[in-house]
Amino acid sequence: MKKETRLFIPGPTPVPPAVAEAMARPLIGHRTEDFARLYARLEERLRVVLGTKNDIVILTSSGTGGMEAAVANLVSPGDPVLALVTGKFGERFAELAKVYGGAVEVMEFGWGKAVDLEAVEEKLKARRFKVVLATHNETSTTVVNDIRGLGELTRRYGALLVVDAVSSAGGMEIRMDDWGVDVLVTASQKALMVPPGLAIVAASDAAWKAMEENKNPRYYLDLLAARKSKQKYNTPYTPAVSLFVGLDRALDLILAEGLEKVYRKHRLLARAVRAAIRALGLKLMIPDEYASPVVTGVWAPEGIEVDRLRKEIASRYGVLLAGGQGPLKGKIFRISHMGYVDAVDILGALGALELGLYRFGFKFKLGEGLAQAQAVLAEEGEE
Ligand SMILES: *Cc1c(COP(=O)(O)O)cnc(C)c1O
Repeated sequence: MKKETRLFIPGPTPVPPAVAEAMARPLIGHRTEDFARLYARLEERLRVVLGTKNDIVILTSSGTGGMEAAVANLVSPGDPVLALVTGKFGERFAELAKVYGGAVEVMEFGWGKAVDLEAVEEKLKARRFKVVLATHNETSTTVVNDIRGLGELTRRYGALLVVDAVSSAGGMEIRMDDWGVDVLVTASQKALMVPPGLAIVAASDAAWKAMEENKNPRYYLDLLAARKSKQKYNTPYTPAVSLFVGLDRALDLILAEGLEKVYRKHRLLARAVRAAIRALGLKLMIPDEYASPVVTGVWAPEGIEVDRLRKEIASRYGVLLAGGQGPLKGKIFRISHMGYVDAVDILGALGALELGLYRFGFKFKLGEGLAQAQAVLAEEGEE
């Protein structure tokens, strides 16, 4: 008998049984007091997770819908937009801004590099931008960008900072208000441990004001309409009720654990994975300094077709690792450790990786990676 495939991909991530159970209960009507109380509870607790007092709306769409909403509501044809690109999702933000007619200047930092604040400052000095688009955790390259640093710059130079925090919220610290973020977008299916289908958008007073002034056409993704309904804790259209319920339960779990502890766990798992990868003689994509705590990128082992290796590990051991996207396709693999993942899960994934490598004839000593990961985990509590 085969067990279900275990997900070590950066979304969708494993859903805790408590969340799945909550979603399996009979539906509630969305025009009811019960739903209003649910939405109010979600907003109040998402504010804690995102570090904000701002209005938050929840859209029924994947994360990209939240990104599109941010752009559609802020960018009119000809508006100057600076798009900071460090990988696939930064590229997506830039494409969206172009689709909506923005005068988009793209700053490419390279896949595997983080945003260079000095270079951004030079740009902002030279020209006025209405909007700066950035990615917090660039999932495609496993790089973390310095949003706090960017917020200082956009405040100083008077631009709205719009951040894709889809894969970071719930897995790493976000302080939207302290950092000066104007619009923050996240989604249900990453570190928030809920199936795909919800986008969460928080916006500052300055951003809401800019949306009111922006005359760009939009309908389903109109954030002002979503905010208006939210004043009564309702939604303009039928929401994905069961996902709202799931998110409620997931936030119970995250906040009962405590955000600090949740973040510490992610950092610990990242360190364990990184120690294992090094011990196996594989190459990590990103230096410790700006490596993601929620997903780890690894260069393909010499002489091995990495997507074949992933397939073998998935079919033989039921462990699904992620491949590379865009120019990194076939060049890397990624191990996600965001959300409902613990130390034993990670040891299992690393064990399966070792077995796969062994079957493909990679030269290393079986158990070497696991031993180093265990050594890191054994130090737990010393952080
Ligand atoms: C997953 C992800 C998204 C959103 O993707 P969807 O498939 O639309 O949910 C956006 N940005 C980042 C950084 C992501 O990891």
